[in-house]
Amino acid sequence: MSRAMDAAVHLFPSEDGNEAQREQLLGLLNQLLSGFDRLKDADRVNLKGGKDRSGHFYGQLAQSSRIPEGGVPLEDVTDKLLELMHDHPYHTKYFLTNILPMASVPGMIGMVAAMLANGNNLWDVYGPAGAEAEVRVISMMSQLVGYDHARSGGYTTWGGQGAIFTGLRLAIAKFDRDAPRSGVTRPLYAFCSEAAHYSLFKSMEATGLGSDRLIKIRTLADSAMDPEDLRRRMGDVIAGGGIPAYIVATTGTTDAMGIDDLRAIAHAAEEASAAAGLPRPHIHADSALGGFFAFYNDYDFDANPLGLDDETSAALASIAGRLEALQLADSLCFDFQKLGQTPYCTSLFLVKDSADLQLLDLDASETPYVGHRGYGQYHTGYTLECSRMASSISMYSALLAFGKDGYRRLLAQFVSVNHAFRRQLAAEVPELTIVNPGNPGIITLFRLYGEGMPGFEQELAGVCSREQIERTNALNERFFEQLGRQRDRMFFGDTKKHLLVPTVEGDRIALYASKLFVISPYTRIEHVPEIVRYLKTQAAHVYGNEYTPIH
Ligand SMILES: *Cc1c(COP(=O)(O)O)cnc(C)c1O
Repeated sequence: MSRAMDAAVHLFPSEDGNEAQREQLLGLLNQLLSGFDRLKDADRVNLKGGKDRSGHFYGQLAQSSRIPEGGVPLEDVTDKLLELMHDHPYHTKYFLTNILPMASVPGMIGMVAAMLANGNNLWDVYGPAGAEAEVRVISMMSQLVGYDHARSGGYTTWGGQGAIFTGLRLAIAKFDRDAPRSGVTRPLYAFCSEAAHYSLFKSMEATGLGSDRLIKIRTLADSAMDPEDLRRRMGDVIAGGGIPAYIVATTGTTDAMGIDDLRAIAHAAEEASAAAGLPRPHIHADSALGGFFAFYNDYDFDANPLGLDDETSAALASIAGRLEALQLADSLCFDFQKLGQTPYCTSLFLVKDSADLQLLDLDASETPYVGHRGYGQYHTGYTLECSRMASSISMYSALLAFGKDGYRRLLAQFVSVNHAFRRQLAAEVPELTIVNPGNPGIITLFRLYGEGMPGFEQELAGVCSREQIERTNALNERFFEQLGRQRDRMFFGDTKKHLLVPTVEGDRIALYASKLFVISPYTRIEHVPEIVRYLKTQAAHVYGNEYTPIH
């Protein structure tokens, strides 16, 4: 072979394990890691390095980008990759915006291990390492939620959204047996709460059921679904000739961390369906965010071996009290890329009864490439994906390294920081009211109220006009902008759909609120005073432009 033909071999790892090629790879990793470390600044959110992403930034990128004619040396490529990281948000102690975690070391090492063999998780013959890790992780997490791990099943997939989507595919196949072949012919309906993630809305669109067939159930003041409203709305659907097929119960909402009461939901659904001679809808617990708190399901709160303080212990016990009912769900999800501390995209879909997956399996004649040639015992014709990454290896790595206690400690730290924040915010900045007081956990929503404006209690009680609430929403929007301008200093989240409250006019309107999400392992209780002081200054700025500040 001519030199020109084999020139690309230097771009690959070795075939035989020789030291020279290993050193080359290690050298590049070292360049990447040390270059990345030089960009870090523990007292800010964003990495160093100037980059102005405003204005025509993306348009100019589209204009100027070209594939190089000849390849660029690897060291130069690595420098280019580091340039992408300039001014990138990073999970320092002031990263308080949303469920966007730092990837842990075991999570990353697991990804690297998966890349080295680069198996395809489509089939165990192509990806035996991923298949083994996947079976192990499914069993481990099934035991955690109280599923029978000899009977349960699942697979790693594309996000909590992918899990909701597959739950819907199962529901359709259960309620309309021929639908996988003939298309949906029955009037199937799905239900979730007003505070649920928009994943189900999208899934209704994508399956062709249509989002009009999605019924949003009212939430209570703690952002959990109202089971009585579910019962009523299911009754309405059935009276109109519809068939309730799918319920998504959110066990940890993305904004307020409200936890739906699965036991009450299953009970209400069972009764509403049975009254019409129908089977209960498939219930998917959207535990993408909250599921990891199930590590506290078997914690001995009385003996308290981790030495949790009373407040943290009470919060975790109350969350675990709701998550014990996860085992009632027909399917659920763990987004490891969230509280599992692994990189994107590492989501796990679990089904209580693995036989359910057969409803979606492809016939052998449909999959001529894989899985049916007498070797390999593990094939996944029911996944929506064809090729799949072995993200299970990263999950496995993290589960081994953290162990139950490691996850418990991390969650306890997040919860205790959140408590300290709530306490200090209430004491120091009364104009910022906590609007999810009934949700213990790692998220605090707070809302700015103008002088003389009705407060949160009045909004909840339905004694405010639409105009009054809109005025407070507008004030909060300005507060979002104020915080957003300096998000490289401290990065908060916000939402425009916290709780729908009744107005005196008789309609319902969503509240805007800012969000503190404790997610970085580097945010500690001693940082809380600085965070609260910062918010006080920012609130005074917005407030001062509008009213005479109270203080
Ligand atoms: C994040 C989240 C989702 C979506 O998960 P992805 O992994 O982003 O697809 C769905 N539901 C809840 C409650 C979530 O927190």
